[in-house]
Amino acid sequence: MIACMNFDVVIIGGGLVGASLAAALRDSGLSLALVESQATPEPATGWDSRIYAISPGSRGFLERSGVWPLLDASRIAPVEAMRVFGDSGGVNSTSALADSGLPTFSAELEFSAYQMGVAELACILENRALQRALWQRLAQQENLTLLHPASCAALRFAGEAAELTLQDGRTLSAKLVVGADGRDSWVREQAGISAAPVDYQQHGVVANFSCELPHRGIAYQWFQPDGILALLPLPGDQVSMVWSVGARETFVPVPEQKFHVPLLALSHDELCTQVAAASQHTLGKLKIITAPAAFPLRMLTLPHIVGPRLALVGDAAHNIHPLAGQGVNTGFRDARQLAQLLLERGTQNDCGDAHLLRSYERKRKEDIYTMQATTYGLKHLFNNDVPLLRTMRNLGLSATNRITPLKKMLMQHALN
Ligand SMILES: Cc1cc2nc3c(=O)[nH]c(=O)nc-3n(C[C@H](O)[C@H](O)[C@H](O)COP(=O)(O)OP(=O)(O)OC[C@H]3O[C@@H](n4cnc5c(N)ncnc54)[C@H](O)[C@@H]3O)c2cc1C
Repeated sequence: MIACMNFDVVIIGGGLVGASLAAALRDSGLSLALVESQATPEPATGWDSRIYAISPGSRGFLERSGVWPLLDASRIAPVEAMRVFGDSGGVNSTSALADSGLPTFSAELEFSAYQMGVAELACILENRALQRALWQRLAQQENLTLLHPASCAALRFAGEAAELTLQDGRTLSAKLVVGADGRDSWVREQAGISAAPVDYQQHGVVANFSCELPHRGIAYQWFQPDGILALLPLPGDQVSMVWSVGARETFVPVPEQKFHVPLLALSHDELCTQVAAASQHTLGKLKIITAPAAFPLRMLTLPHIVGPRLALVGDAAHNIHPLAGQGVNTGFRDARQLAQLLLERGTQNDCGDAHLLRSYERKRKEDIYTMQATTYGLKHLFNNDVPLLRTMRNLGLSATNRITPLKKMLMQHALN
Protein backbone atom coordinates (compact mmCIF):
# COMPACT_ATOMS: atom_id res chain seq x y z
CA MET A 1 0.00 0.00 0.00
CA ILE A 2 1.30 3.49 -0.91
CA ALA A 3 1.45 5.89 2.06
CA CYS A 4 -0.47 9.15 1.95
CA MET A 5 1.76 12.26 1.61
CA ASN A 6 0.71 15.16 3.82
CA PHE A 7 1.07 18.80 2.74
CA ASP A 8 -0.19 22.16 3.85
CA VAL A 9 -0.96 23.28 0.29
CA VAL A 10 -1.35 21.22 -2.90
CA ILE A 11 -1.44 23.30 -6.09
CA ILE A 12 -2.93 21.51 -9.09
CA GLY A 13 -1.67 23.01 -12.36
CA GLY A 14 1.84 24.37 -12.90
CA GLY A 15 1.09 26.92 -15.64
CA LEU A 16 2.18 30.53 -15.13
CA VAL A 17 -0.24 31.23 -12.28
CA GLY A 18 0.10 27.98 -10.28
CA ALA A 19 3.89 28.02 -10.62
CA SER A 20 4.07 31.70 -9.59
CA LEU A 21 2.03 30.95 -6.45
CA ALA A 22 4.39 28.10 -5.50
CA ALA A 23 7.40 30.41 -6.03
CA ALA A 24 5.81 33.17 -3.92
CA LEU A 25 5.35 30.71 -1.03
CA ARG A 26 9.05 29.80 -0.94
CA ASP A 27 9.68 31.32 2.50
CA SER A 28 6.21 30.68 3.92
CA GLY A 29 7.19 27.73 6.12
CA LEU A 30 4.35 25.79 4.46
CA SER A 31 4.92 22.37 2.91
CA LEU A 32 3.82 22.50 -0.73
CA ALA A 33 3.18 20.10 -3.59
CA LEU A 34 2.67 21.09 -7.20
CA VAL A 35 0.92 18.58 -9.47
CA GLU A 36 1.29 19.24 -13.20
CA SER A 37 0.06 16.97 -15.97
CA GLN A 38 2.71 18.06 -18.52
CA ALA A 39 6.48 17.44 -18.59
CA THR A 40 8.89 20.39 -18.04
CA PRO A 41 8.61 22.97 -20.84
CA GLU A 42 11.21 22.55 -23.61
CA PRO A 43 13.95 25.19 -24.07
CA ALA A 44 12.86 27.98 -26.39
CA THR A 45 13.85 27.75 -30.04
CA GLY A 46 12.84 30.66 -32.25
CA TRP A 47 10.19 33.13 -31.12
CA ASP A 48 7.12 31.97 -29.24
CA SER A 49 3.87 33.14 -30.84
CA ARG A 50 2.22 33.28 -27.38
CA ILE A 51 3.38 36.58 -25.92
CA TYR A 52 2.26 38.38 -22.75
CA ALA A 53 2.10 42.03 -21.81
CA ILE A 54 3.26 41.75 -18.21
CA SER A 55 2.13 44.69 -16.07
CA PRO A 56 4.58 46.45 -13.71
CA GLY A 57 2.64 44.94 -10.78
CA SER A 58 3.11 41.40 -12.16
CA ARG A 59 6.75 42.12 -12.88
CA GLY A 60 7.29 43.23 -9.25
CA PHE A 61 5.62 40.01 -8.07
CA LEU A 62 7.92 37.90 -10.27
CA GLU A 63 10.97 39.91 -9.15
CA ARG A 64 10.17 39.38 -5.48
CA SER A 65 9.79 35.63 -6.14
CA GLY A 66 13.25 35.51 -7.75
CA VAL A 67 11.86 34.52 -11.17
CA TRP A 68 12.47 37.70 -13.18
CA PRO A 69 16.32 37.59 -12.97
CA LEU A 70 16.22 34.14 -14.63
CA LEU A 71 14.74 35.61 -17.82
CA ASP A 72 16.90 36.54 -20.82
CA ALA A 73 16.66 40.36 -20.81
CA SER A 74 17.52 40.55 -24.52
CA ARG A 75 14.18 38.86 -25.32
CA ILE A 76 12.04 41.29 -23.30
CA ALA A 77 10.63 44.49 -24.82
CA PRO A 78 9.35 47.41 -22.75
CA VAL A 79 6.10 49.11 -23.80
CA GLU A 80 6.71 52.84 -23.57
CA ALA A 81 3.41 54.01 -25.01
CA MET A 82 0.10 52.66 -26.16
CA ARG A 83 -2.08 53.96 -29.00
CA VAL A 84 -5.67 52.81 -29.41
CA PHE A 85 -7.75 53.52 -32.49
CA GLY A 86 -11.49 53.29 -33.02
CA ASP A 87 -13.05 52.29 -36.30
CA SER A 88 -13.57 55.74 -37.73
CA GLY A 89 -10.21 56.64 -39.06
CA GLY A 90 -6.53 56.12 -39.55
CA VAL A 91 -3.23 56.87 -37.91
CA ASN A 92 -2.50 59.65 -40.35
CA SER A 93 -3.81 61.00 -43.59
CA THR A 94 -1.37 58.98 -45.70
CA SER A 95 -2.93 55.67 -44.65
CA ALA A 96 -4.55 53.32 -47.16
CA LEU A 97 -7.94 54.12 -45.64
CA ALA A 98 -7.42 57.81 -46.39
CA ASP A 99 -6.85 56.91 -50.04
CA SER A 100 -10.06 54.91 -50.05
CA GLY A 101 -12.07 58.02 -49.22
CA LEU A 102 -13.21 56.77 -45.81
CA PRO A 103 -13.26 59.31 -42.96
CA THR A 104 -9.80 59.68 -41.47
CA PHE A 105 -10.13 61.58 -38.19
CA SER A 106 -8.44 59.45 -35.59
CA ALA A 107 -10.48 58.55 -32.55
CA GLU A 108 -7.41 57.90 -30.56
CA LEU A 109 -6.58 57.07 -27.00
CA GLU A 110 -2.95 57.38 -26.07
CA PHE A 111 -1.08 56.45 -22.91
CA SER A 112 2.61 56.86 -22.27
CA ALA A 113 4.91 55.69 -19.50
CA TYR A 114 6.21 59.26 -19.29
CA GLN A 115 2.68 60.66 -18.65
CA MET A 116 2.09 58.00 -16.01
CA GLY A 117 5.46 58.63 -14.33
CA VAL A 118 6.56 54.99 -14.69
CA ALA A 119 9.53 53.37 -16.45
CA GLU A 120 7.30 51.32 -18.75
CA LEU A 121 3.61 50.53 -19.19
CA ALA A 122 4.28 46.80 -19.52
CA CYS A 123 6.94 44.33 -20.60
CA ILE A 124 6.37 42.02 -23.53
CA LEU A 125 7.74 38.54 -23.08
CA GLU A 126 7.30 35.01 -24.30
CA ASN A 127 5.07 32.44 -22.61
CA ARG A 128 7.63 29.61 -22.96
CA ALA A 129 10.51 31.70 -21.54
CA LEU A 130 8.45 32.71 -18.49
CA GLN A 131 7.28 29.11 -17.94
CA ARG A 132 10.87 27.87 -18.01
CA ALA A 133 12.13 30.58 -15.65
CA LEU A 134 9.36 29.71 -13.17
CA TRP A 135 10.13 25.99 -13.32
CA GLN A 136 13.87 26.66 -13.00
CA ARG A 137 13.14 28.59 -9.81
CA LEU A 138 10.81 25.86 -8.48
CA ALA A 139 13.44 23.16 -9.04
CA GLN A 140 15.55 24.77 -6.27
CA GLN A 141 12.71 25.23 -3.78
CA GLU A 142 13.14 23.22 -0.57
CA ASN A 143 9.58 23.36 0.76
CA LEU A 144 8.14 22.13 -2.57
CA THR A 145 7.53 18.61 -3.92
CA LEU A 146 7.09 18.63 -7.69
CA LEU A 147 4.87 15.88 -9.07
CA HIS A 148 5.01 15.94 -12.87
CA PRO A 149 3.99 14.65 -15.23
CA ALA A 150 1.22 13.35 -12.99
CA SER A 151 -2.48 12.84 -13.63
CA CYS A 152 -5.19 13.39 -11.07
CA ALA A 153 -7.82 10.68 -10.56
CA ALA A 154 -10.00 11.81 -7.64
CA LEU A 155 -10.36 14.74 -5.26
CA ARG A 156 -12.37 14.69 -2.07
CA PHE A 157 -12.98 17.66 0.18
CA ALA A 158 -13.52 16.93 3.89
CA GLY A 159 -13.69 19.02 7.07
CA GLU A 160 -10.06 18.81 8.18
CA ALA A 161 -8.30 18.19 4.87
CA ALA A 162 -8.76 17.50 1.18
CA GLU A 163 -7.50 14.28 -0.35
CA LEU A 164 -6.14 13.96 -3.87
CA THR A 165 -5.58 10.59 -5.54
CA LEU A 166 -3.29 10.39 -8.56
CA GLN A 167 -3.74 7.93 -11.44
CA ASP A 168 -0.70 5.97 -10.24
CA GLY A 169 -2.39 5.37 -6.88
CA ARG A 170 -0.44 7.89 -4.77
CA THR A 171 -2.56 9.97 -2.42
CA LEU A 172 -1.91 13.47 -1.12
CA SER A 173 -3.64 15.11 1.80
CA ALA A 174 -3.75 18.92 2.03
CA LYS A 175 -5.21 21.59 4.29
CA LEU A 176 -5.69 23.68 1.16
CA VAL A 177 -6.02 22.67 -2.50
CA VAL A 178 -5.42 25.39 -5.10
CA GLY A 179 -7.00 24.84 -8.51
CA ALA A 180 -4.61 26.43 -11.04
CA ASP A 181 -5.41 24.03 -13.84
CA GLY A 182 -6.57 26.49 -16.50
CA ARG A 183 -9.80 27.28 -18.32
CA ASP A 184 -11.22 23.75 -18.40
CA SER A 185 -10.34 23.18 -14.74
CA TRP A 186 -10.80 19.62 -13.49
CA VAL A 187 -10.49 20.85 -9.89
CA ARG A 188 -13.37 23.31 -10.40
CA GLU A 189 -15.51 20.47 -11.73
CA GLN A 190 -14.67 18.19 -8.77
CA ALA A 191 -15.66 21.00 -6.40
CA GLY A 192 -18.99 21.42 -8.20
CA ILE A 193 -18.34 25.10 -9.01
CA SER A 194 -19.73 25.97 -12.41
CA ALA A 195 -21.27 28.67 -14.56
CA ALA A 196 -22.16 28.83 -18.23
CA PRO A 197 -19.34 30.56 -20.12
CA VAL A 198 -20.21 33.37 -22.52
CA ASP A 199 -18.86 32.35 -25.90
CA TYR A 200 -17.40 35.45 -27.53
CA GLN A 201 -17.77 33.79 -30.95
CA GLN A 202 -14.24 34.95 -31.58
CA HIS A 203 -10.77 33.49 -31.82
CA GLY A 204 -7.52 35.12 -30.85
CA VAL A 205 -5.08 34.68 -33.73
CA VAL A 206 -1.45 35.12 -32.70
CA ALA A 207 1.68 35.45 -34.85
CA ASN A 208 4.93 37.43 -34.82
CA PHE A 209 6.23 39.66 -37.60
CA SER A 210 9.31 41.67 -38.43
CA CYS A 211 8.37 45.18 -39.52
CA GLU A 212 9.78 47.66 -41.99
CA LEU A 213 9.33 50.71 -39.74
CA PRO A 214 10.48 50.91 -36.08
CA HIS A 215 7.74 50.39 -33.48
CA ARG A 216 9.50 52.75 -31.01
CA GLY A 217 8.24 50.74 -28.05
CA ILE A 218 4.59 51.53 -28.89
CA ALA A 219 1.81 48.95 -28.46
CA TYR A 220 -0.93 49.53 -31.05
CA GLN A 221 -4.54 48.46 -30.92
CA TRP A 222 -7.30 48.88 -33.50
CA PHE A 223 -10.94 48.32 -32.61
CA GLN A 224 -12.84 47.21 -35.69
CA PRO A 225 -16.51 46.26 -36.09
CA ASP A 226 -15.48 42.64 -36.63
CA GLY A 227 -12.46 42.27 -34.42
CA ILE A 228 -9.68 43.81 -32.39
CA LEU A 229 -6.12 43.88 -33.67
CA ALA A 230 -3.15 44.44 -31.37
CA LEU A 231 0.49 44.73 -32.40
CA LEU A 232 2.85 44.59 -29.43
CA PRO A 233 6.54 45.53 -29.61
CA LEU A 234 9.16 42.76 -29.47
CA PRO A 235 12.93 43.36 -29.28
CA GLY A 236 14.35 44.80 -32.53
CA ASP A 237 12.02 45.65 -35.37
CA GLN A 238 9.58 42.88 -34.54
CA VAL A 239 6.00 42.81 -33.31
CA SER A 240 3.63 40.25 -31.88
CA MET A 241 0.03 40.17 -33.06
CA VAL A 242 -3.13 39.23 -31.17
CA TRP A 243 -6.07 39.58 -33.55
CA SER A 244 -9.43 38.72 -32.00
CA VAL A 245 -11.56 37.92 -34.97
CA GLY A 246 -15.14 36.96 -35.23
CA ALA A 247 -16.69 33.76 -35.37
CA ARG A 248 -16.70 32.72 -38.80
CA GLU A 249 -13.67 31.62 -37.00
CA THR A 250 -10.72 33.34 -37.95
CA PHE A 251 -12.48 34.95 -40.90
CA VAL A 252 -12.16 38.66 -41.54
CA PRO A 253 -13.69 40.81 -44.23
CA VAL A 254 -11.36 42.26 -46.81
CA PRO A 255 -12.91 45.62 -47.78
CA GLU A 256 -11.52 45.61 -51.33
CA GLN A 257 -12.77 42.11 -52.05
CA LYS A 258 -16.10 42.27 -50.19
CA PHE A 259 -15.95 38.64 -49.02
CA HIS A 260 -14.64 36.72 -46.04
CA VAL A 261 -11.22 35.17 -45.92
CA PRO A 262 -10.13 32.60 -43.35
CA LEU A 263 -7.09 34.16 -41.65
CA LEU A 264 -5.43 30.87 -40.86
CA ALA A 265 -5.85 29.53 -44.37
CA LEU A 266 -4.07 32.51 -45.90
CA SER A 267 -0.55 32.13 -47.22
CA HIS A 268 2.01 33.88 -45.02
CA ASP A 269 2.41 36.64 -47.63
CA GLU A 270 -1.35 37.21 -47.78
CA LEU A 271 -1.59 37.27 -44.00
CA CYS A 272 1.15 39.92 -43.87
CA THR A 273 -0.78 41.99 -46.43
CA GLN A 274 -4.01 41.65 -44.38
CA VAL A 275 -2.37 42.62 -41.11
CA ALA A 276 -0.51 45.53 -42.71
CA ALA A 277 -3.79 46.80 -44.20
CA ALA A 278 -5.78 46.35 -40.97
CA SER A 279 -3.03 48.18 -39.06
CA GLN A 280 -3.20 50.96 -41.63
CA HIS A 281 0.41 50.39 -42.69
CA THR A 282 1.60 52.00 -39.47
CA LEU A 283 4.68 49.76 -39.35
CA GLY A 284 5.20 49.51 -43.10
CA LYS A 285 5.65 46.11 -44.73
CA LEU A 286 5.41 43.07 -42.45
CA LYS A 287 7.19 39.72 -42.73
CA ILE A 288 5.99 36.74 -40.73
CA ILE A 289 8.46 35.13 -38.28
CA THR A 290 6.21 32.61 -36.48
CA ALA A 291 3.31 30.68 -38.00
CA PRO A 292 -0.14 31.89 -36.86
CA ALA A 293 -2.13 29.97 -34.23
CA ALA A 294 -5.68 30.51 -32.95
CA PHE A 295 -7.39 30.20 -29.57
CA PRO A 296 -11.15 30.30 -28.89
CA LEU A 297 -12.23 33.21 -26.66
CA ARG A 298 -14.86 33.20 -23.96
CA MET A 299 -15.82 34.86 -20.70
CA LEU A 300 -16.34 32.84 -17.54
CA THR A 301 -17.64 34.40 -14.33
CA LEU A 302 -18.05 31.98 -11.44
CA PRO A 303 -20.41 32.42 -8.49
CA HIS A 304 -17.52 31.48 -6.16
CA ILE A 305 -13.77 31.08 -6.48
CA VAL A 306 -13.40 29.32 -3.13
CA GLY A 307 -14.99 26.29 -1.45
CA PRO A 308 -14.23 24.23 1.64
CA ARG A 309 -10.42 23.77 1.60
CA LEU A 310 -10.29 25.09 -1.97
CA ALA A 311 -9.19 28.25 -3.78
CA LEU A 312 -9.21 28.78 -7.55
CA VAL A 313 -6.65 31.00 -9.28
CA GLY A 314 -5.92 32.12 -12.85
CA ASP A 315 -7.95 30.86 -15.78
CA ALA A 316 -9.54 28.23 -13.51
CA ALA A 317 -11.15 31.15 -11.64
CA HIS A 318 -12.02 33.47 -14.57
CA ASN A 319 -11.71 33.80 -18.34
CA ILE A 320 -11.20 37.28 -19.74
CA HIS A 321 -11.09 38.61 -23.31
CA PRO A 322 -7.44 39.23 -24.31
CA LEU A 323 -8.21 42.73 -25.64
CA ALA A 324 -6.84 44.34 -22.48
CA GLY A 325 -3.90 41.90 -22.24
CA GLN A 326 -4.97 41.28 -18.64
CA GLY A 327 -5.73 37.53 -18.53
CA VAL A 328 -2.48 36.40 -17.05
CA ASN A 329 -2.00 39.60 -15.04
CA THR A 330 -5.37 39.02 -13.35
CA GLY A 331 -4.18 35.47 -12.58
CA PHE A 332 -0.92 36.79 -11.10
CA ARG A 333 -2.99 39.16 -8.94
CA ASP A 334 -4.92 36.10 -7.64
CA ALA A 335 -1.64 34.37 -6.80
CA ARG A 336 -0.26 37.55 -5.18
CA GLN A 337 -3.35 37.99 -3.02
CA LEU A 338 -3.55 34.36 -1.94
CA ALA A 339 0.19 34.24 -1.18
CA GLN A 340 -0.09 37.44 0.85
CA LEU A 341 -2.97 36.07 2.96
CA LEU A 342 -1.11 32.79 3.53
CA LEU A 343 2.10 34.60 4.49
CA GLU A 344 0.27 36.94 6.87
CA ARG A 345 -1.93 34.31 8.49
CA GLY A 346 0.35 33.52 11.46
CA THR A 347 1.91 30.10 11.80
CA GLN A 348 -0.71 28.82 14.27
CA ASN A 349 -3.56 29.29 11.87
CA ASP A 350 -4.92 26.68 9.48
CA CYS A 351 -3.95 27.61 5.91
CA GLY A 352 -7.26 26.24 4.58
CA ASP A 353 -9.32 28.16 7.09
CA ALA A 354 -12.73 29.27 5.79
CA HIS A 355 -12.20 32.90 6.95
CA LEU A 356 -8.94 33.16 5.04
CA LEU A 357 -10.59 31.74 1.91
CA ARG A 358 -13.58 34.08 2.18
CA SER A 359 -11.19 36.98 2.57
CA TYR A 360 -9.33 35.87 -0.59
CA GLU A 361 -12.60 35.73 -2.54
CA ARG A 362 -13.76 39.12 -1.25
CA LYS A 363 -10.48 40.82 -2.07
CA ARG A 364 -10.34 39.42 -5.63
CA LYS A 365 -13.98 39.98 -6.61
CA GLU A 366 -13.82 43.64 -7.59
CA ASP A 367 -10.73 43.34 -9.77
CA ILE A 368 -12.05 40.25 -11.59
CA TYR A 369 -15.48 41.81 -12.23
CA THR A 370 -13.97 45.11 -13.35
CA MET A 371 -11.72 43.37 -15.88
CA GLN A 372 -14.55 41.17 -17.16
CA ALA A 373 -17.08 43.99 -17.41
CA THR A 374 -14.64 46.34 -19.16
CA THR A 375 -13.46 43.82 -21.74
CA TYR A 376 -17.00 42.48 -22.34
CA GLY A 377 -18.37 46.02 -22.73
CA LEU A 378 -15.65 47.18 -25.10
CA LYS A 379 -15.85 44.04 -27.21
CA HIS A 380 -19.62 44.44 -27.65
CA LEU A 381 -19.50 48.19 -28.13
CA PHE A 382 -17.18 47.77 -31.10
CA ASN A 383 -18.78 44.59 -32.51
CA ASN A 384 -21.89 46.53 -33.36
CA ASP A 385 -22.70 48.28 -36.56
CA VAL A 386 -25.40 50.70 -35.43
CA PRO A 387 -24.19 54.04 -36.94
CA LEU A 388 -24.98 56.10 -33.81
CA LEU A 389 -23.06 53.66 -31.62
CA ARG A 390 -20.21 53.78 -34.06
CA THR A 391 -19.95 57.55 -33.76
CA MET A 392 -20.39 57.50 -29.99
CA ARG A 393 -17.78 54.86 -29.32
CA ASN A 394 -15.17 56.78 -31.29
CA LEU A 395 -16.12 60.05 -29.62
CA GLY A 396 -15.89 58.13 -26.32
CA LEU A 397 -12.31 57.08 -27.03
CA SER A 398 -11.32 60.65 -27.90
CA ALA A 399 -13.10 62.02 -24.83
CA THR A 400 -11.42 59.48 -22.57
CA ASN A 401 -8.13 60.61 -24.03
CA ARG A 402 -8.89 64.19 -22.99
CA ILE A 403 -10.31 63.47 -19.52
CA THR A 404 -7.02 63.09 -17.69
CA PRO A 405 -8.35 61.73 -14.36
CA LEU A 406 -10.43 59.04 -16.14
CA LYS A 407 -7.49 58.10 -18.32
CA LYS A 408 -5.21 57.91 -15.30
CA MET A 409 -7.71 55.76 -13.42
CA LEU A 410 -7.97 53.29 -16.33
CA MET A 411 -4.21 53.14 -16.63
CA GLN A 412 -3.56 52.75 -12.91
CA HIS A 413 -5.71 49.61 -12.99
CA ALA A 414 -3.75 48.17 -15.92
CA LEU A 415 -0.39 48.94 -14.25
CA ASN A 416 -1.29 46.82 -11.21
C1 LIG B 1 -4.87 34.59 -27.85
C2 LIG B 1 -4.60 34.87 -26.41
C3 LIG B 1 -3.74 35.88 -26.10
C4 LIG B 1 -3.51 36.19 -24.78
N1 LIG B 1 -2.72 37.26 -24.51
C5 LIG B 1 -2.55 37.61 -23.23
C6 LIG B 1 -1.77 38.78 -22.90
O1 LIG B 1 -1.21 39.47 -23.75
N2 LIG B 1 -1.65 39.10 -21.59
C7 LIG B 1 -2.25 38.35 -20.61
O2 LIG B 1 -2.13 38.71 -19.44
N3 LIG B 1 -2.97 37.25 -20.88
C8 LIG B 1 -3.14 36.86 -22.15
N4 LIG B 1 -3.90 35.75 -22.43
C9 LIG B 1 -4.47 34.93 -21.32
C10 LIG B 1 -3.48 33.92 -20.74
O3 LIG B 1 -2.98 33.05 -21.72
C11 LIG B 1 -4.09 33.07 -19.64
O4 LIG B 1 -4.82 33.93 -18.79
C12 LIG B 1 -3.01 32.34 -18.83
O5 LIG B 1 -2.31 31.40 -19.61
C13 LIG B 1 -3.64 31.60 -17.65
O6 LIG B 1 -2.64 30.96 -16.88
P1 LIG B 1 -3.04 29.77 -15.90
O7 LIG B 1 -1.75 29.35 -15.25
O8 LIG B 1 -4.18 30.15 -15.06
O9 LIG B 1 -3.58 28.62 -16.84
P2 LIG B 1 -2.81 27.77 -17.94
O10 LIG B 1 -1.75 28.57 -18.60
O11 LIG B 1 -3.88 27.18 -18.79
O12 LIG B 1 -2.11 26.63 -17.09
C14 LIG B 1 -2.81 25.53 -16.53
C15 LIG B 1 -1.81 24.43 -16.22
O13 LIG B 1 -2.50 23.35 -15.58
C16 LIG B 1 -2.13 22.14 -16.17
N5 LIG B 1 -3.26 21.21 -15.98
C17 LIG B 1 -4.45 21.23 -16.58
N6 LIG B 1 -5.25 20.28 -16.09
C18 LIG B 1 -4.53 19.64 -15.13
C19 LIG B 1 -4.82 18.56 -14.26
N7 LIG B 1 -6.02 17.94 -14.27
N8 LIG B 1 -3.85 18.14 -13.42
C20 LIG B 1 -2.65 18.75 -13.39
N9 LIG B 1 -2.32 19.79 -14.20
C21 LIG B 1 -3.26 20.23 -15.06
C22 LIG B 1 -1.83 22.46 -17.62
O14 LIG B 1 -0.96 21.52 -18.21
C23 LIG B 1 -1.17 23.84 -17.49
O15 LIG B 1 0.22 23.74 -17.30
C24 LIG B 1 -4.13 35.43 -23.74
C25 LIG B 1 -4.96 34.37 -24.07
C26 LIG B 1 -5.22 34.11 -25.39
C27 LIG B 1 -6.17 33.01 -25.71
